[in-house]
Amino acid sequence: MRYFILSDIHANLEALEAVLAAVEASRYDRVICLGDLVGYGANPNEVVDRIRALEPTVIIRGNHDKAASGLDTAKDFNPIARLAARWTRDRLTPDNQTYLAELPAGPQIVDDLVEICHGTPYDEDAYLFDEGDGLLALATARRPLCLFGHTHVPLVLRMTADGLELEHVNGGDTPHTVALQSEGRCLVNPGSVGQPRDGDPRAAYAIVDTDTRSVSLFRQRYAIDEAQRKIFTAGLPGVLAQRLGVGR
Ligand code: ZN
Repeated sequence: MRYFILSDIHANLEALEAVLAAVEASRYDRVICLGDLVGYGANPNEVVDRIRALEPTVIIRGNHDKAASGLDTAKDFNPIARLAARWTRDRLTPDNQTYLAELPAGPQIVDDLVEICHGTPYDEDAYLFDEGDGLLALATARRPLCLFGHTHVPLVLRMTADGLELEHVNGGDTPHTVALQSEGRCLVNPGSVGQPRDGDPRAAYAIVDTDTRSVSLFRQRYAIDEAQRKIFTAGLPGVLAQRLGVGR
């Protein structure tokens, strides 16, 4: 079984379409989505429609999906994120708003090998940046591979004989493949499709192969200038367009 993993799309239709076009070449069986379909970008309805059409096997909500669907007031968001959440909420169709509001919270078990969460297995809204967060996440994960998003930074975290190993995956032109060990848990963040924050502006996604017990992390170029143009035209904060250009 090969799972196509999408996380943190953030209403960036250009990035999503580029990733979907790229992944067609590599076979996959099922789609899994780690949340934050909307927020920041200019195409919330188009992105939600596209994801719904893919019929993900397992999909969970992100904090921006909660804010945009009215489940959360976004009071903890920074002013720009809150503004984007309100903008998104005003434009989502009632049907798409209901779809986002009804997305399940993470963590969710996918199969014997894989579980997913938006932030961490212990709190859907917590950010996993460092070893401290990682230890708790490893301790609360229930499957050998736990996929997470939320930080928009590709990351591999696992316990080895030498202790906790935290690896930032800097995307080159070839995919980065992680082999799962027979023992212990591994946490992997595939990075963000629509708003990368690791300094590489290309869209990020992953493929999990349960037969070879491996995760491959990919980067994909897309029409950043078009996504930026739409953000400016929509009247969203210009910084949301600028950050796409630098991947921060
Ligand atoms: Zn996000």
